Parts: sequence; structure tokens; C-alpha cells
Amino acid sequence: MRTVLIGPPGAGKGTQAHRLADYFDVRLISTGDMFRRNVRAETPLGLKAKSYMEAGELVPDDIVTEMLVQELDRYPNGFVLDGFPRTIPQAQALETALAERRRPLGAVLKFAIPDEVTVARLAGRRTCTHCERTFNVELKPTKVPGVCDNCGGELMQRDDDREEIVRHRLDVYHRDTEPLQKYYWERGLLREVDAVGEVEEITRRAIAAVKDIRT
Ligand code: AMP
Repeated sequence: MRTVLIGPPGAGKGTQAHRLADYFDVRLISTGDMFRRNVRAETPLGLKAKSYMEAGELVPDDIVTEMLVQELDRYPNGFVLDGFPRTIPQAQALETALAERRRPLGAVLKFAIPDEVTVARLAGRRTCTHCERTFNVELKPTKVPGVCDNCGGELMQRDDDREEIVRHRLDVYHRDTEPLQKYYWERGLLREVDAVGEVEEITRRAIAAVKDIRT
């Protein structure tokens, strides 16, 4: 099972990626999480990525692609990819890397959500500094405020979840990432998932979409 999730920031890709990876028993690969871990650990990769992330810009394609391809080789049995690809060149690089490994993509799910819902959702989003799970002070509160339900880690608001940065991330999404829909539609891989509703219901829709493509 090799699946890519695309959709605007705040569409719930991270939450659904965890749930789909659990359901299909494959690895979750999130390029955003990988960058955040590198930024926190102040690695050379993290230092390169930091200024782009803080501004809500995309990290340059070559940096992301190199990091991602190395990661793919660790999980030959399958993956759910959250946050990659985000541009046409990244999609082409992924296609080439998977073709070389004779492991083509099985499905691409596009999580659809209106821009206003994104802005409202991200204002309340809190992210675990340890396991990267996300919660929402209004929509998906933790049992103990500020503490991750999954691992007990401390929750923080991401710097790039501030409203002005969110609006910029949405512009970047529409400009650079939306063209991927056509790219994957033409390859017969795309399914759209309505990403407004209860978490469990959206997971059911996503699982059904993956199965629909595989059969
Ligand atoms: P995310 O957690 O997926 O929203 O990613 C957070 C930030 O990491 C993005 O706003 C980008 O700055 C960077 N990033 C993550 N994935 C990619 C990617 N595939 N291409 C470029 N930048 C990325």
C-alpha cells in the first residue's frame, strides 16, 4: 500500500495519515514532521529548512526530495506520505524513484476543505513536541490541557499556524500544490475525500477511497 495525501494546510492530513497508516499497517512518512525534528535538533538540514518553514514557504525541491528518497528506502513494504509531493517536480521525482524500485504509487487522496475552515482550524491546532500528533483546543481537545493524549508530551502552537502565515501557506498551496490534482487525475490515481466532518467518518471515507482504487 503506497498512498499519497494531498490537501491544503489544516485539512486533517496529519491526523488521517496516522490513522490510515495504522489501519493498513504501513509506515507514515511526513516531510513536515521530519523537518520539524531536524529544526529542533539543529541539524544542518534543519538549519537549511528553518527560514522557509517560518515564513510559510516551501523548502526547495532538491532538499526535500533527497531527504524523502532516502526515507523511502527504509520502508519497502509501503507507506502513507503526508506532505510530499507538494510541487510537480517533487511528484516527478517521486514517480522516478518509485519506478526505479518497481514499487509504483497505489492511490492519491485529496482532502477537500474550504479555505475559511482551514484558517479556523489551524488557529486552535496544537502539536505535540514529541510525537507530532495534533489536537485542537476547540474541536479535538486533549484529556489534560497542554498534554498529548498519545505520549504525554508537551503541546505547542506551531509558529507557522499563526493566521498571517496560514493565509500565505494557503496561497502557496493553491499556486504550487493544487496542480498535482490534475497530474494524478491523469494517471488514474486521484480520489477526492470530503475532509469536513468527524475524524472517524473522514477515516472511513479515506479507507473506502484507497480500496476503491485498489480494486
Ligand atoms: P507540514 O507539516 O506538512 O505543513 O509542513 C510544514 C512546512 O515544512 C511547510 O510549510 C514547508 O515549509 C515544509 N515542507 C514540508 N513538506 C514539504 C515539501 N514536500 N516541500 C517543500 N516544503 C515542505
